[in-house]
Amino acid sequence: VSPEIGQMLEAHELLRKFYHHLLVNTKDGQHALEYLLNRGFTMESIDKFQIGYSLNSWDFVYKFLTKRKFPEEVIEKAGLIIRREKDGQFFDRFRDRIMFPIFDRNGQTIAFSGRSLGANEPKYLNSPETVIFNKSKILYNFHLARPHIKKFQQAILFEGFADVIAADRAGVENGVATMGTSLTDEHVSALKRNVQSITICYDSDHAGIEAAQRAGEMLSAAGCQIRVALMPDGMDPDDYIKEFGKEKFRKEVIDASVTFMAFKLLYYRRGKRLHDEGDRLLYIEEVLAEISKLDNAVEKDHYLRQLANEFSLSLEALNEQQRQVSFAEK
Ligand code: ATP
Ligand code: MN
Ligand code: MN
Ligand code: MN
Repeated sequence: VSPEIGQMLEAHELLRKFYHHLLVNTKDGQHALEYLLNRGFTMESIDKFQIGYSLNSWDFVYKFLTKRKFPEEVIEKAGLIIRREKDGQFFDRFRDRIMFPIFDRNGQTIAFSGRSLGANEPKYLNSPETVIFNKSKILYNFHLARPHIKKFQQAILFEGFADVIAADRAGVENGVATMGTSLTDEHVSALKRNVQSITICYDSDHAGIEAAQRAGEMLSAAGCQIRVALMPDGMDPDDYIKEFGKEKFRKEVIDASVTFMAFKLLYYRRGKRLHDEGDRLLYIEEVLAEISKLDNAVEKDHYLRQLANEFSLSLEALNEQQRQVSFAEK
Protein backbone atom coordinates (compact mmCIF):
# COMPACT_ATOMS: atom_id res chain seq x y z
CA VAL A 1 0.00 0.00 0.00
CA SER A 2 1.48 3.33 -1.10
CA PRO A 3 1.58 6.14 1.47
CA GLU A 4 -1.01 8.02 -0.57
CA ILE A 5 -3.46 5.12 -0.53
CA GLY A 6 -2.83 4.70 3.17
CA GLN A 7 -3.77 8.31 3.74
CA MET A 8 -6.90 8.01 1.62
CA LEU A 9 -8.07 5.02 3.60
CA GLU A 10 -7.29 6.75 6.85
CA ALA A 11 -9.22 9.85 5.79
CA HIS A 12 -12.25 7.72 4.96
CA GLU A 13 -11.99 5.91 8.27
CA LEU A 14 -11.87 9.15 10.24
CA LEU A 15 -14.75 10.68 8.33
CA ARG A 16 -16.90 7.58 8.62
CA LYS A 17 -16.58 7.73 12.39
CA PHE A 18 -17.15 11.46 12.53
CA TYR A 19 -20.18 11.43 10.18
CA HIS A 20 -21.68 8.67 12.30
CA HIS A 21 -21.05 10.63 15.47
CA LEU A 22 -22.70 13.72 13.93
CA LEU A 23 -25.78 11.70 13.05
CA VAL A 24 -26.33 9.90 16.31
CA ASN A 25 -25.01 12.29 18.94
CA THR A 26 -25.35 15.88 17.78
CA LYS A 27 -27.99 18.52 17.34
CA ASP A 28 -26.66 19.24 13.84
CA GLY A 29 -27.54 15.70 12.82
CA GLN A 30 -30.88 15.53 14.54
CA HIS A 31 -33.05 16.28 11.49
CA ALA A 32 -31.15 13.63 9.53
CA LEU A 33 -31.66 11.06 12.28
CA GLU A 34 -35.36 11.88 12.41
CA TYR A 35 -35.58 11.47 8.65
CA LEU A 36 -34.04 8.00 8.89
CA LEU A 37 -36.16 6.88 11.82
CA ASN A 38 -39.28 8.10 10.01
CA ARG A 39 -38.29 6.00 7.04
CA GLY A 40 -38.15 2.94 9.26
CA PHE A 41 -34.38 2.69 9.82
CA THR A 42 -33.60 1.47 13.34
CA MET A 43 -30.75 2.59 15.62
CA GLU A 44 -29.45 -0.95 15.30
CA SER A 45 -29.10 -0.75 11.54
CA ILE A 46 -27.77 2.81 11.68
CA ASP A 47 -25.03 1.37 13.86
CA LYS A 48 -24.45 -1.79 11.90
CA PHE A 49 -24.15 0.04 8.58
CA GLN A 50 -22.32 2.96 10.19
CA ILE A 51 -24.67 5.48 8.62
CA GLY A 52 -23.74 9.12 9.18
CA TYR A 53 -24.51 12.71 8.35
CA SER A 54 -22.39 15.32 6.52
CA LEU A 55 -22.76 18.88 7.79
CA ASN A 56 -24.30 21.63 5.74
CA SER A 57 -20.92 23.30 5.29
CA TRP A 58 -18.70 24.10 2.31
CA ASP A 59 -15.44 23.43 4.11
CA PHE A 60 -15.98 21.17 7.09
CA VAL A 61 -14.19 18.17 5.56
CA TYR A 62 -11.47 20.37 4.10
CA LYS A 63 -10.67 21.85 7.52
CA PHE A 64 -11.16 18.62 9.43
CA LEU A 65 -8.63 16.76 7.26
CA THR A 66 -6.06 19.49 6.51
CA LYS A 67 -5.89 20.24 10.24
CA ARG A 68 -4.91 16.60 10.67
CA LYS A 69 -2.10 17.04 8.13
CA PHE A 70 -3.72 15.30 5.16
CA PRO A 71 -2.38 16.92 1.96
CA GLU A 72 -4.99 18.75 -0.15
CA GLU A 73 -4.14 16.74 -3.28
CA VAL A 74 -4.70 13.48 -1.45
CA ILE A 75 -8.08 14.58 -0.11
CA GLU A 76 -9.03 15.75 -3.58
CA LYS A 77 -7.88 12.51 -5.22
CA ALA A 78 -9.90 10.60 -2.64
CA GLY A 79 -12.96 12.45 -3.95
CA LEU A 80 -13.80 14.08 -0.63
CA ILE A 81 -13.22 17.65 -1.75
CA ILE A 82 -13.52 19.33 -5.14
CA ARG A 83 -11.35 22.11 -6.57
CA ARG A 84 -13.40 24.92 -8.06
CA GLU A 85 -12.28 25.84 -11.60
CA LYS A 86 -12.56 29.60 -11.41
CA ASP A 87 -10.47 30.35 -8.31
CA GLY A 88 -8.87 27.04 -7.34
CA GLN A 89 -10.73 27.01 -4.00
CA PHE A 90 -11.59 23.67 -2.46
CA PHE A 91 -15.06 22.75 -1.26
CA ASP A 92 -16.59 19.63 0.28
CA ARG A 93 -18.27 17.15 -2.04
CA PHE A 94 -20.83 15.95 0.51
CA ARG A 95 -22.94 18.52 2.28
CA ASP A 96 -26.11 18.02 4.30
CA ARG A 97 -26.52 14.41 3.24
CA ILE A 98 -27.14 11.06 4.89
CA MET A 99 -23.81 9.29 4.51
CA PHE A 100 -23.58 5.60 3.66
CA PRO A 101 -20.00 4.39 3.94
CA ILE A 102 -18.99 1.99 1.20
CA PHE A 103 -16.79 -0.81 2.49
CA ASP A 104 -14.51 -3.05 0.50
CA ARG A 105 -14.50 -6.79 1.11
CA ASN A 106 -12.16 -6.35 4.06
CA GLY A 107 -14.44 -3.84 5.73
CA GLN A 108 -12.30 -0.80 4.96
CA THR A 109 -14.18 2.37 4.05
CA ILE A 110 -13.24 3.29 0.48
CA ALA A 111 -16.02 5.67 -0.58
CA PHE A 112 -19.32 7.23 0.45
CA SER A 113 -22.74 7.56 -1.03
CA GLY A 114 -24.69 10.52 0.26
CA ARG A 115 -28.47 10.70 0.09
CA SER A 116 -30.17 14.07 0.05
CA LEU A 117 -32.68 14.60 2.81
CA GLY A 118 -35.44 16.17 0.87
CA ALA A 119 -36.14 16.30 -2.82
CA ASN A 120 -32.72 17.81 -3.59
CA GLU A 121 -31.06 16.36 -6.67
CA PRO A 122 -29.17 14.23 -7.14
CA LYS A 123 -30.92 11.90 -4.72
CA TYR A 124 -27.74 9.87 -4.25
CA LEU A 125 -24.29 11.35 -4.72
CA ASN A 126 -21.44 8.86 -4.88
CA SER A 127 -17.71 9.31 -4.46
CA PRO A 128 -16.06 9.48 -7.87
CA GLU A 129 -13.94 6.62 -9.15
CA THR A 130 -10.61 6.75 -7.33
CA VAL A 131 -7.58 4.52 -6.90
CA ILE A 132 -9.36 2.92 -3.95
CA PHE A 133 -12.94 2.89 -5.29
CA ASN A 134 -14.04 1.12 -8.45
CA LYS A 135 -17.80 1.25 -8.82
CA SER A 136 -17.99 -1.56 -11.30
CA LYS A 137 -16.35 -3.95 -8.83
CA ILE A 138 -17.89 -3.03 -5.50
CA LEU A 139 -21.03 -4.65 -4.19
CA TYR A 140 -22.58 -2.80 -1.28
CA ASN A 141 -22.60 -4.89 1.93
CA PHE A 142 -20.53 -7.72 0.48
CA HIS A 143 -18.20 -7.75 3.51
CA LEU A 144 -21.05 -8.31 5.99
CA ALA A 145 -23.17 -10.50 3.73
CA ARG A 146 -20.42 -12.89 2.69
CA PRO A 147 -20.54 -15.28 5.68
CA HIS A 148 -24.33 -15.49 5.33
CA ILE A 149 -24.02 -16.03 1.59
CA LYS A 150 -21.60 -18.88 2.26
CA LYS A 151 -23.73 -20.35 4.99
CA PHE A 152 -26.99 -20.38 3.02
CA GLN A 153 -25.32 -20.86 -0.38
CA GLN A 154 -27.54 -18.08 -1.54
CA ALA A 155 -27.18 -14.35 -2.25
CA ILE A 156 -29.89 -11.75 -2.74
CA LEU A 157 -29.21 -8.97 -5.20
CA PHE A 158 -30.95 -5.64 -4.54
CA GLU A 159 -31.03 -2.35 -6.42
CA GLY A 160 -30.42 0.09 -3.58
CA PHE A 161 -28.68 0.52 -0.23
CA ALA A 162 -31.96 1.20 1.51
CA ASP A 163 -33.21 -2.18 0.29
CA VAL A 164 -30.16 -4.03 1.58
CA ILE A 165 -30.54 -2.35 4.97
CA ALA A 166 -34.29 -2.92 5.21
CA ALA A 167 -33.86 -6.58 4.25
CA ASP A 168 -31.17 -6.96 6.89
CA ARG A 169 -33.61 -5.60 9.47
CA ALA A 170 -36.08 -8.21 8.25
CA GLY A 171 -33.51 -10.94 8.94
CA VAL A 172 -32.34 -11.30 5.35
CA GLU A 173 -28.62 -10.77 5.87
CA ASN A 174 -27.25 -12.15 2.62
CA GLY A 175 -28.15 -9.12 0.52
CA VAL A 176 -25.88 -6.99 -1.63
CA ALA A 177 -26.46 -4.15 -4.10
CA THR A 178 -24.63 -2.48 -6.94
CA MET A 179 -23.67 1.17 -6.59
CA GLY A 180 -26.63 2.51 -8.56
CA THR A 181 -25.16 1.17 -11.80
CA SER A 182 -26.11 -1.91 -13.73
CA LEU A 183 -24.47 -5.20 -12.96
CA THR A 184 -21.03 -5.61 -14.57
CA ASP A 185 -19.02 -8.69 -15.55
CA GLU A 186 -16.78 -7.97 -12.56
CA HIS A 187 -19.77 -8.10 -10.19
CA VAL A 188 -20.85 -11.34 -11.84
CA SER A 189 -17.48 -13.00 -11.31
CA ALA A 190 -17.24 -11.76 -7.71
CA LEU A 191 -20.64 -13.31 -7.01
CA LYS A 192 -19.87 -16.46 -8.97
CA ARG A 193 -16.74 -17.07 -6.93
CA ASN A 194 -18.82 -17.21 -3.75
CA VAL A 195 -22.21 -18.61 -4.63
CA GLN A 196 -24.27 -20.51 -7.21
CA SER A 197 -27.80 -19.45 -6.30
CA ILE A 198 -28.80 -15.83 -6.61
CA THR A 199 -32.18 -14.26 -6.03
CA ILE A 200 -32.71 -10.98 -7.83
CA CYS A 201 -34.96 -8.63 -5.86
CA TYR A 202 -35.05 -5.39 -7.82
CA ASP A 203 -37.63 -2.62 -7.70
CA SER A 204 -40.98 -3.47 -9.18
CA ASP A 205 -41.01 -0.59 -11.64
CA HIS A 206 -40.14 -0.44 -15.33
CA ALA A 207 -36.44 0.25 -14.76
CA GLY A 208 -36.17 -2.46 -12.11
CA ILE A 209 -37.90 -5.11 -14.19
CA GLU A 210 -35.72 -4.37 -17.23
CA ALA A 211 -32.61 -4.43 -15.05
CA ALA A 212 -33.68 -7.73 -13.44
CA GLN A 213 -34.05 -9.29 -16.86
CA ARG A 214 -30.55 -8.13 -17.90
CA ALA A 215 -28.91 -9.12 -14.60
CA GLY A 216 -30.61 -12.51 -14.78
CA GLU A 217 -29.29 -13.14 -18.30
CA MET A 218 -25.75 -12.22 -17.29
CA LEU A 219 -25.76 -14.35 -14.17
CA SER A 220 -27.36 -17.33 -15.94
CA ALA A 221 -24.76 -17.07 -18.69
CA ALA A 222 -22.13 -17.32 -15.97
CA GLY A 223 -23.75 -20.52 -14.75
CA CYS A 224 -25.66 -19.23 -11.72
CA GLN A 225 -29.08 -20.49 -10.71
CA ILE A 226 -31.37 -17.49 -10.77
CA ARG A 227 -34.64 -16.81 -9.04
CA VAL A 228 -36.51 -13.54 -9.08
CA ALA A 229 -38.44 -12.15 -6.11
CA LEU A 230 -41.53 -10.18 -7.09
CA MET A 231 -43.40 -7.37 -5.37
CA PRO A 232 -46.58 -5.45 -6.12
CA ASP A 233 -46.22 -2.89 -8.93
CA GLY A 234 -44.24 0.20 -8.12
CA MET A 235 -42.79 -1.01 -4.82
CA ASP A 236 -39.21 -1.64 -3.81
CA PRO A 237 -38.12 -3.97 -0.97
CA ASP A 238 -37.69 -1.09 1.45
CA ASP A 239 -41.21 0.23 0.74
CA TYR A 240 -42.59 -3.29 1.01
CA ILE A 241 -41.03 -4.00 4.39
CA LYS A 242 -42.19 -0.66 5.74
CA GLU A 243 -45.73 -1.29 4.55
CA PHE A 244 -46.21 -5.04 5.09
CA GLY A 245 -43.58 -6.01 7.66
CA LYS A 246 -40.60 -8.31 7.92
CA GLU A 247 -42.38 -11.61 8.03
CA LYS A 248 -44.48 -10.99 4.96
CA PHE A 249 -41.34 -9.89 3.13
CA ARG A 250 -39.54 -13.11 3.97
CA LYS A 251 -42.47 -15.40 3.22
CA GLU A 252 -44.22 -13.68 0.34
CA VAL A 253 -41.31 -12.06 -1.45
CA ILE A 254 -38.05 -13.90 -0.77
CA ASP A 255 -39.38 -17.42 -0.17
CA ALA A 256 -41.97 -16.98 -2.92
CA SER A 257 -39.40 -16.08 -5.57
CA VAL A 258 -39.94 -17.66 -8.99
CA THR A 259 -37.50 -19.29 -11.40
CA PHE A 260 -35.86 -17.06 -13.98
CA MET A 261 -37.89 -18.80 -16.69
CA ALA A 262 -41.15 -18.07 -14.88
CA PHE A 263 -40.03 -14.45 -14.52
CA LYS A 264 -39.28 -14.25 -18.24
CA LEU A 265 -42.74 -15.54 -19.08
CA LEU A 266 -44.17 -12.70 -16.99
CA TYR A 267 -41.66 -10.30 -18.49
CA TYR A 268 -42.72 -11.05 -22.06
CA ARG A 269 -46.36 -10.63 -21.08
CA ARG A 270 -45.83 -7.09 -19.88
CA GLY A 271 -47.57 -4.52 -22.03
CA LYS A 272 -49.09 -7.16 -24.29
CA ARG A 273 -52.77 -7.87 -24.74
CA LEU A 274 -52.76 -11.60 -25.18
CA HIS A 275 -56.29 -11.67 -26.59
CA ASP A 276 -54.90 -9.64 -29.49
CA GLU A 277 -53.69 -12.03 -32.18
CA GLY A 278 -50.54 -10.08 -33.06
CA ASP A 279 -49.46 -9.72 -29.43
CA ARG A 280 -50.25 -13.34 -28.77
CA LEU A 281 -48.16 -14.60 -31.69
CA LEU A 282 -45.28 -12.36 -30.65
CA TYR A 283 -45.49 -13.67 -27.10
CA ILE A 284 -45.48 -17.28 -28.29
CA GLU A 285 -42.48 -16.58 -30.49
CA GLU A 286 -40.55 -14.95 -27.63
CA VAL A 287 -41.35 -17.80 -25.28
CA LEU A 288 -40.35 -20.40 -27.87
CA ALA A 289 -37.02 -18.65 -28.30
CA GLU A 290 -36.49 -18.93 -24.55
CA ILE A 291 -37.55 -22.57 -24.47
CA SER A 292 -35.14 -23.39 -27.29
CA LYS A 293 -32.29 -22.07 -25.14
CA LEU A 294 -32.99 -24.53 -22.32
CA ASP A 295 -30.70 -27.52 -22.37
CA ASN A 296 -32.76 -29.70 -20.09
CA ALA A 297 -35.18 -31.81 -22.16
CA VAL A 298 -37.65 -32.26 -19.31
CA GLU A 299 -37.81 -28.54 -18.72
CA LYS A 300 -38.29 -27.94 -22.42
CA ASP A 301 -41.15 -30.36 -22.49
CA HIS A 302 -42.71 -28.79 -19.40
CA TYR A 303 -42.78 -25.27 -20.83
CA LEU A 304 -43.89 -26.40 -24.27
CA ARG A 305 -46.84 -28.22 -22.72
CA GLN A 306 -47.67 -25.21 -20.63
CA LEU A 307 -47.67 -23.00 -23.71
CA ALA A 308 -49.70 -25.51 -25.70
CA ASN A 309 -52.30 -25.70 -22.96
CA GLU A 310 -52.59 -21.99 -22.42
CA PHE A 311 -53.16 -21.15 -26.07
CA SER A 312 -54.79 -24.41 -27.17
CA LEU A 313 -52.02 -25.18 -29.62
CA SER A 314 -50.78 -28.57 -30.70
CA LEU A 315 -47.67 -29.72 -28.94
CA GLU A 316 -46.34 -31.03 -32.26
CA ALA A 317 -46.56 -27.63 -33.92
CA LEU A 318 -44.84 -25.93 -30.99
CA ASN A 319 -42.15 -28.55 -30.91
CA GLU A 320 -41.51 -28.19 -34.61
CA GLN A 321 -41.36 -24.42 -34.32
CA GLN A 322 -39.06 -24.62 -31.32
CA ARG A 323 -36.64 -26.86 -33.20
CA GLN A 324 -36.54 -24.38 -36.05
CA VAL A 325 -35.82 -21.47 -33.68
CA SER A 326 -33.12 -23.43 -31.96
CA PHE A 327 -31.64 -24.52 -35.32
CA ALA A 328 -31.66 -20.91 -36.56
CA GLU A 329 -29.79 -19.83 -33.43
CA LYS A 330 -27.02 -22.36 -33.88
P1 ATP B 1 -34.57 5.64 -1.62
O1 ATP B 1 -35.40 4.58 -1.03
O2 ATP B 1 -33.64 6.28 -0.64
O3 ATP B 1 -35.33 6.64 -2.41
P2 ATP B 1 -33.76 3.78 -3.65
O4 ATP B 1 -32.64 2.81 -3.45
O5 ATP B 1 -35.14 3.26 -3.63
O6 ATP B 1 -33.53 4.96 -2.63
P3 ATP B 1 -33.82 4.16 -6.51
O7 ATP B 1 -34.35 5.38 -7.15
O8 ATP B 1 -34.64 2.93 -6.58
O9 ATP B 1 -33.47 4.56 -5.02
O10 ATP B 1 -32.38 3.89 -7.10
C1 ATP B 1 -31.67 2.69 -6.84
C2 ATP B 1 -30.22 2.98 -6.59
O11 ATP B 1 -29.69 3.74 -7.66
C3 ATP B 1 -29.93 3.83 -5.34
O12 ATP B 1 -29.79 3.06 -4.19
C4 ATP B 1 -28.64 4.50 -5.70
O13 ATP B 1 -27.53 3.62 -5.49
C5 ATP B 1 -28.78 4.70 -7.17
N1 ATP B 1 -29.24 6.05 -7.50
C6 ATP B 1 -30.50 6.51 -7.47
N2 ATP B 1 -30.56 7.80 -7.84
C7 ATP B 1 -29.30 8.16 -8.11
C8 ATP B 1 -28.68 9.36 -8.56
N3 ATP B 1 -29.37 10.45 -8.77
N4 ATP B 1 -27.34 9.35 -8.75
C9 ATP B 1 -26.61 8.23 -8.54
N5 ATP B 1 -27.14 7.08 -8.13
C10 ATP B 1 -28.45 7.02 -7.90
MN1 MN C 1 -35.32 1.96 -8.58
MN1 MN D 1 -35.85 1.87 -5.10
MN1 MN E 1 -36.49 3.01 -1.98
